Amino acid sequence: MGTLNLPRKVSVLGSTGSIGVSTLDLFEQAGVDIEVIGLTAGRNVARLAEQALRWRPQVAVIQDESLLPELRERLKGSGIRSEAGDQAVADVAAADAQWVMSAIVGFAGLAPTLAAARAGAVVALANKESLVCAGPSLLRTAKLAGGAVIPVDSEHSAIFQVLDPALAESVSRLILTSSGGPFRNATREEMANATLEQALAHPNFSMGAKISIDSATMMNKGLEVIEAAYLFSMPPERIEVLVHPQQIIHSMVEYADGSTLAQLGPPDMRPPIACAFAWPDRLSWPAPKLDLVTAGPLTFQHPDPAKFPALSIAKQALQAGGQAPAAMNAANERAVSAFLDRRIRFLDIPNVVAETLERMDRTADLSTLNDAVESARQTDAAARRVADEVVGDLAAA
Ligand code: NAD
Ligand code: MG
Repeated sequence: MGTLNLPRKVSVLGSTGSIGVSTLDLFEQAGVDIEVIGLTAGRNVARLAEQALRWRPQVAVIQDESLLPELRERLKGSGIRSEAGDQAVADVAAADAQWVMSAIVGFAGLAPTLAAARAGAVVALANKESLVCAGPSLLRTAKLAGGAVIPVDSEHSAIFQVLDPALAESVSRLILTSSGGPFRNATREEMANATLEQALAHPNFSMGAKISIDSATMMNKGLEVIEAAYLFSMPPERIEVLVHPQQIIHSMVEYADGSTLAQLGPPDMRPPIACAFAWPDRLSWPAPKLDLVTAGPLTFQHPDPAKFPALSIAKQALQAGGQAPAAMNAANERAVSAFLDRRIRFLDIPNVVAETLERMDRTADLSTLNDAVESARQTDAAARRVADEVVGDLAAA
């Protein structure tokens, strides 16, 4: 076998989450020769310390500063530096790793992801919210710095693998597949009464709580439509969503000549992470094999717009442009968090997002300021305030 040109120095942002854990597991199983220079987590100090003792990074960062004493205690005598806070997370992202896994959840991932891009690293992007809120700036920053953004989201990884950039003009459609989430077969009435436990029960994957709820509302697919539009410079009307419960085909590219290219794999996030790690090479590791015979029939259906209004809300935000996607994302983060706290009901989530966008449209300027990132930040803060008002109104009703 030839020698692969793999990154050596890597950092993992959000190392204790579902994607972070899968990333370190892939490294372990592939037996790659890497130096992990930084690991960061939000609040899971026990798991972060455990990972740090295994991977011996230069620095381990916990975002929640109140947990720093515990992290220091757990890493005492190890020689591993411990830090805390948002700036320390961004500093890890900006350090001299060649490859940075961006796997923080939510808007909180934007600043560190931008820092990694500015430093010229190859950014393996799981944190879709940063693309949704500041996609063009993030991609431009990476390009100017001589780095790259490689999608980890399985749908975008699929498209990235089968879309030949030289043929972009000849692409007629991108087809994003979706599991349909836990409420694929539910009635709208069942969804109205859905419990938190039902909404969290994703059919094929164990993921973080936020993306699990996004999958149940299909806002996850809405975010992914925006993500695809930015990553592949595709207008919204040429991006389609198909429900494909088996999650074997991860997405497709339809060319103008009538040929459609699909990427297939088992429902597992490690292959797309491996792809982002070794690109343009291919990593050899004991990957789970796709068995199409036991996978059973592959089925497809259109998503039901009445059950999943989040999809059209996202398409409208993309079409509106400017800061609308950032406002939508912020409202969704607040609505999901209110649902996780059992303060609103399941179908209130898309209502909070729609109502927030409507109120903001009346009161705020959703157009782009000169500094797109700063304006995304302002929009994010403003939309959070409005969404919290909407949640408050709902919770009081
Ligand atoms: P998760 O909740 O399991 O993990 C999130 C990680 O971010 C954890 O390490 C957490 O400690 C850290 N974190 C949380 N808040 C933080 C903050 N304010 N500052 C710094 N760190 C913070 O989430 P996940 O399922 O691993 O998803 C991570 C990202 O990847 C999300 O954007 C998600 O949409 C995307 N994604 C996930 C999957 C999946 O299969 N889980 C698939 C595709 C895309
Ligand atoms: Mg996805």
